[in-house]
Amino acid sequence: MTTKSTPNPFARFGLDERLLRAVAEMGYERPTPIQEQAIPLVMAGKDVTGSAQTGTGKTAAFGLPILHKLLSEPQKQRGLRVLILSPTRELAAQIEESLKDYARHTKIKIACVIGGVAIGPQTKKLREGIDILVATPGRLLDHLGQRNLSFGALEVFVLDEADRMLDMGFLPDIRRIIAQLPAKRQTMLFSATIPPEIAKLANSLLKQPEHVQVGRQAAPAVGITHAVYPVPSHLKPLLLPAILRDIGARSVLVFTRTKRRADKLARHLTKTGLRIAVIHGDRSQNQRTAALDGFKRGKSEVLVATDLAARGLDVEGITHVINFDVPGSPDDYVHRIGRTARADALGDAFTLVAPEEEMQMRQIEAHLGHVLPRVAVRDFDYSVPAPEKKTGLERASTSRVNVPTSFHMSRRRKLPRKR
Ligand code: AMP
Repeated sequence: MTTKSTPNPFARFGLDERLLRAVAEMGYERPTPIQEQAIPLVMAGKDVTGSAQTGTGKTAAFGLPILHKLLSEPQKQRGLRVLILSPTRELAAQIEESLKDYARHTKIKIACVIGGVAIGPQTKKLREGIDILVATPGRLLDHLGQRNLSFGALEVFVLDEADRMLDMGFLPDIRRIIAQLPAKRQTMLFSATIPPEIAKLANSLLKQPEHVQVGRQAAPAVGITHAVYPVPSHLKPLLLPAILRDIGARSVLVFTRTKRRADKLARHLTKTGLRIAVIHGDRSQNQRTAALDGFKRGKSEVLVATDLAARGLDVEGITHVINFDVPGSPDDYVHRIGRTARADALGDAFTLVAPEEEMQMRQIEAHLGHVLPRVAVRDFDYSVPAPEKKTGLERASTSRVNVPTSFHMSRRRKLPRKR
């Protein structure tokens, strides 16, 4: 608990004194990482997307600056000022409870409307007037249908656990609700993962959003951090260089499903300026030895390999194993990641998972006995569509947007030169 001699660690955000008092009473000794990142952005009025799960302190990360805004900015028009959508009743009730805790020294009125309980008392509360509403989509639509509330005065909209909303089939409901919100507002979207549908929704919903992300959770396997990067398959060739850049690739082993894909990927990565070696069954023994030697001696930063070629491979100091394609079996996964974290060295194992590979990934997770964290690359545009579009990269009427030609069109060796 913060005392007079220890300054309140939330004070530096410039939060209202009544909120600081509540936080101190609740025993919060320091902001959590998501709070560190998100509070200043929300205070500055920015739109924010966040990859963070419940349990990270997310509610205060958006709740405290929202409450501060309501306290510091006079209401321009009577009516609801903040709407928070949550996929489940339990989560909605939990958010309401936390917000009431943070607002305990203020007169801000907070209510929650969820299904499965009588609608009458909720209607009464809504009609009396509230400032912040936490709701599940279905029951909110019922109230909107009965004209129990309107969004004319709405200033802030929070969409929580967006990926779960998607899984639960709430996206059409959400779109109907969003259609009724005023265009001028501050918007926040939180999602543990950013599947393409959510990226698309975020694009249409937020204006120049800032992204906040809470670091990956450590996986139980000693020394190895496993993470899954959900991504549409056509964006894998773009995501991989972004990941390699993020991790400052030094000694990375990348697996592909087939020899052909290994060659294609190696060619593509070479163009991004990385030094690449490749080994697979179709390469001569001399080529393989040279590739491996170069990798061992640090001449190449990335070794692209197929499963077979990598069996028994023992290279010290591999920092990361990246599965460009999901391994065919749980055994292959274990073998692949066994290439890293040797001799207690720290190593990470990342897997790029396209929607059509999710089932395979689940089998691997079942084998490991736990679900791996889904993560996203900050600032990566997951919404780039696969269909035809031309970019500078593909100036000569080739196929897919942004995706380097060499990867998709193996037979087209050379791009026509630009004159
Ligand atoms: P949430 O992720 O918002 O559901 O919060 C998870 C739990 O962490 C809740 O019980 C919060 O009261 C608590 N919590 C949030 N922020 C802090 C903090 N800065 N210090 C300690 N506990 C916190």
